[in-house]
Amino acid sequence: MVVAPVNRADAKHRLQLLDQFEEACLGWFWATNAEGRLIYISESAARKLGAEGGQLIGRALSSLFILDQDDSEEKAERPLAFLLSARNSIMDLPVRIAIDGSEVWWSISGKPQLDEDGNFQGYRGSAKDITAVRESQRDASRLAQYDSLTGLANRHRMTKRLTATLTAYKAAKRSCALMMLDLDRFKQVNDTLGHPAGDELLKQVAQRLQRIIGKTGEIGRLGGDEFQVILPDMDDRGDLGDLAERVIQMVSQPYSIDGSRAIIGTSVGIAIAPYDGLDTEELVGAADLALYAAKGGGRGQFRFYSGELKDGARLRRQIEEDLRDALEANQLQMHYQPVIKTGTNAVTALEALMRWEHPERGWISPADFIPVAEETNLITEIGQFALRQACMDAAQWPGDLRVAVNVSAVQFMSESLPHVVRQALADSGLDPRRLELEITESVFIGDEVSALDMFSQLKKLGVRLALDDFGTGYSSLGYLRNAPFDKIKIDQSFVRGLTEQDNNNSAIITAITSLAKALKMEVVAEGVEALDELEMLHELGVCHIQGFVFSKAVRQSELVERFAEQQFVWEPEGPAKHRAERKTVFRRIGVIHEDHRYDAVMRNLSRTGARIEGLLHVPLGTQLVLDMGEGQLVVATVRRSHEHAQGLEFETQLVSDGAGGLCTRHRISPYALAAAGMPLAALPVGDYPLVGGHVGAAPKTKPAFMQVDLSKMR
Ligand code: C2E
Ligand code: CA
Ligand code: CA
Repeated sequence: MVVAPVNRADAKHRLQLLDQFEEACLGWFWATNAEGRLIYISESAARKLGAEGGQLIGRALSSLFILDQDDSEEKAERPLAFLLSARNSIMDLPVRIAIDGSEVWWSISGKPQLDEDGNFQGYRGSAKDITAVRESQRDASRLAQYDSLTGLANRHRMTKRLTATLTAYKAAKRSCALMMLDLDRFKQVNDTLGHPAGDELLKQVAQRLQRIIGKTGEIGRLGGDEFQVILPDMDDRGDLGDLAERVIQMVSQPYSIDGSRAIIGTSVGIAIAPYDGLDTEELVGAADLALYAAKGGGRGQFRFYSGELKDGARLRRQIEEDLRDALEANQLQMHYQPVIKTGTNAVTALEALMRWEHPERGWISPADFIPVAEETNLITEIGQFALRQACMDAAQWPGDLRVAVNVSAVQFMSESLPHVVRQALADSGLDPRRLELEITESVFIGDEVSALDMFSQLKKLGVRLALDDFGTGYSSLGYLRNAPFDKIKIDQSFVRGLTEQDNNNSAIITAITSLAKALKMEVVAEGVEALDELEMLHELGVCHIQGFVFSKAVRQSELVERFAEQQFVWEPEGPAKHRAERKTVFRRIGVIHEDHRYDAVMRNLSRTGARIEGLLHVPLGTQLVLDMGEGQLVVATVRRSHEHAQGLEFETQLVSDGAGGLCTRHRISPYALAAAGMPLAALPVGDYPLVGGHVGAAPKTKPAFMQVDLSKMR
């Protein structure tokens, strides 16, 4: 250690200082001769390079470093060899050294030395290790772009990528799809298994997504349980629907996390540029709306964006606003639908179904407002009201008639549920054995263990449990074995078409009833409308029936009157046979033939064809183009024709729109519309008389067919 002040003239002490500086690896010195060969290098620097100082003397300075600076960020910098040969000053130039495979970076500086006559003598310079600084810079830029949990791109990077892609694609007239994903019931896993488990689950989801998407797109995690996929050059809605279905299927497979099993699902919304949006904001907004619709349509679904979704979103916001006041304004009521014993036709229970009479809109279906209530947490309050009111009302009914109350999955997850049930029972004085809670299979998604725990808490109160909508969604017979259900309700969809030929619903119902018998559970078939269905269910051994064939849900006052008159039997009424449900579509479309456009009504739409009405006497074999709106054009050939109705066969099959409907694979591109004189914009709602018709100019030919007046049609 040098203790005394060092005099500038004291060369010995100054050298000592420099030696210590070198030894501490704070920096090193080097010098080259006029040929660029090393004549000095600090000993500690040489050691870093894996050599003795002496071994390096005479070597070209630039040979110590990796010349090819492949790091793209460094491209702007001139290579060391160039700077040296040009005899330029070097200032903090980063250079890379490969030592035992690990990457080390130095920053070097140097000044050319000239003698008195101005002759170049070589360089004198210094160097220091900047590896740590560079790594932390790189990490910081990674952090700013990638999600540290899953390694996927983060929201910031996705937005940048999407914007860059859409800008470039607009110029090149290319298309790009955007998929938005939101996991169903992820929150439950997080809440019940803990955050580390939630993190692990997200990682596994990311891996599965990467396996499916691969190189076809870029995946990002936007935060929470929201993912996004950019799919360049994809606009075929058939392919996109298939991809979305694969994603949903893969994500819905069970996960194993620290020995626990968890099941989640996902909903997917899809929007495609330029059809649904041209810029990032518009396209993301469209994909978000599609995602929202997918979630609303029952989870585990995909949905394409369509212009109609905007209206749906507006309506939902309205419902949400009004629902807050509905309870206080006494607009919510409970009605009751009887559950009837087959054979005797005596009522055994009544299901409480909520009804909302909106002052302006009239009756709003619980299928529309319960999902909104679930999203906004109003369900807790509304569910509590349903339980209290139903228990109160049931206490007025004679005998041991039971009341069944629907409990939504969100409500089921709330810890306060047992307390709410106990309170409703206590306040009404209803015998717990007369209360039945209807729960859907979706309560098992998330964490099975805590669901079973809730079941046992509820059973301790003495109430009965029923499994609602059995057979839809995430059904697994495994649940039935473990959960203490007293009753299974077979979903309406199995009753529909039961009496038709070539239908395996009856085999499914037989399987469910025998399983239920083995597990000592009652079976109810829901949504029974016709007498032939009733008879068939009776034959299949279903002992309880609920449906319009006996009664719709009725008011408490009507029930009380009925029971006062000792009427406990309902006579079945209804159509003798259930008419095979044919999707009766009534949709106005445009029909283009040559350069004329006609109006028509479309009925009986299927993947391969449709029936249209509106044109008179169209010969067989005529080729038509249907304009189904929102840029969907379908080429079709007339296969049947009778007066004003034609049966058409499509040239290309339609594909699923994710909402139980059909859509075309492709649409007219806004680029093509722009070329025809329309402003470049996402496809507007409705049809475009422009297309296939006559832009300004009068048609050259006379119309081939007579137009029928559609206003008389229904
Ligand atoms: P859900 O629990 O499956 O209720 C049965 C639905 O089927 C009821 O519709 C009922 O009116 C209808 N239905 C009964 N018989 C027939 C039939 O023969 N044919 C047809 N086509 N339909 C029939 P609703 O009242 O519109 O309720 C829809 C859903 O809303 C219910 O489905 C239930 O999930 C939910 N919901 C209703 N009330 C409540 C409630 O108080 N709390 C909660 N959390 N959900 C409720
Ligand atoms: Ca129910
Ligand atoms: Ca049901």
